[in-house]
Amino acid sequence: MDTDILVVGAGIHGAAVAHAAARRGYRVRVIEQFGRPAEGTSGRSSKLIHGGLRYLETGQIRLVRECLREQRTLLRERPALVKLVPFYLPVYRRTSRPAWKIAVGLWLYRLLGGHRFRRLPAGEWQALDGLDSRDLRAVFRYFDAQTDDRALTAAVLADAQALGTGVAFGTRLEGIACEATRCVVHCRGPAGVEAVTAACVVNAAGPWVNRVLARATPRPAMLAIELVQGTHIVVAGELRRGIYYLEAPQDRRAVFAMPWKGRTLIGTTETPYRDDPADVHPLAAEQAYLLAVYNHYFQRGLELTDIEDSFAGLRVLPAGEGSAFTRPRETILHRDPAAPRLLSIYGGKLTSHAHTARQVMKRLAPLLPGG
Ligand SMILES: Cc1cc2nc3c(=O)[nH]c(=O)nc-3n(C[C@H](O)[C@H](O)[C@H](O)COP(=O)(O)OP(=O)(O)OC[C@H]3O[C@@H](n4cnc5c(N)ncnc54)[C@H](O)[C@@H]3O)c2cc1C
Repeated sequence: MDTDILVVGAGIHGAAVAHAAARRGYRVRVIEQFGRPAEGTSGRSSKLIHGGLRYLETGQIRLVRECLREQRTLLRERPALVKLVPFYLPVYRRTSRPAWKIAVGLWLYRLLGGHRFRRLPAGEWQALDGLDSRDLRAVFRYFDAQTDDRALTAAVLADAQALGTGVAFGTRLEGIACEATRCVVHCRGPAGVEAVTAACVVNAAGPWVNRVLARATPRPAMLAIELVQGTHIVVAGELRRGIYYLEAPQDRRAVFAMPWKGRTLIGTTETPYRDDPADVHPLAAEQAYLLAVYNHYFQRGLELTDIEDSFAGLRVLPAGEGSAFTRPRETILHRDPAAPRLLSIYGGKLTSHAHTARQVMKRLAPLLPGG
């Protein structure tokens, strides 16, 4: 056997699984089609390490508690990369949720492991980066964490490499055949096609998850998913006080405006996506939508030409009815009982990567050497 675990994908999940496996003493190899880590979703997120305050509304209490627990661990273990930041949540006359409801939500969030919050006195509103104070009824300040998603993914992968994990960039999975005792994976890298044998394969291919499964023989069962595009834009000028949690006036969706490397990052959108994940790109309508939210709340009058950068990532959500907002955001670990050595990760959060990796290892342990 060439390796114990072969991981497909060097996003946050691939990196985290490699790290968890290497820490347990297994031999691990990671293959990544692109030239560096986090070139997929993990470098195009909102860069928040958070419980997801808004998931309380859809009753995803377990997810919120789990993410807040992971947040505390990351604040402790990666203080250079994960930092607590103040979030400001303004409530206007027309905001769909009244101030009392937001206060209850923040109180519950605190109870589930979140940080302190308070309602700012009106005298402090003027210091909020030019936030429109007309019809403003209340502003809540609470704390959550922000990271650099690319740097976090690279750091987790580097930790795995320090424990002996081999990483092959520019290497694409072309085919997998899983048998009773092992899997054979065909990878195309700079030196051509190589066959690698592994006790188990972890499919951490993000939005490519089903494309990877489609290359397995015999073809395993796969989950029905929808890809939902989320775009961010970057404009000049930094918000000094922290992150603003806004309600888009157009459709009442949550939009964040946050300081980001000396500029302002605004996101995100929810646009259904059906093409090749490699081709995802910000749409003009999404950029206009995000800019309109920012202009509305900060009275900036920016034009599309003022957008200095933009990027789009893809959420992997279970196929179903209703808006992307109400769809469950839990990570799903999937295995076809006929091919138990091939495990796929669907969806998930940057925040809960280490928890997901521990769950993966728990499932695979009986099939690995010593199991
Ligand atoms: C818009 C948006 C905002 C988000 N914001 C947040 C947030 O603020 N906080 C949070 O906690 N979570 C957030 N998330 C969720 C989080 O970003 C993702 O769940 C996470 O990054 C997914 O990581 P991954 O490793 O599964 O996938 P990816 O990062 O997409 O990695 C998959 C990797 O597999 C590689 N790959 C695919 N096919 C092959 C192949 N055949 N051979 C070799 N390599 C292959 C790809 O190149 C890619 O690098 C957000 C998601 C989106 C879309």
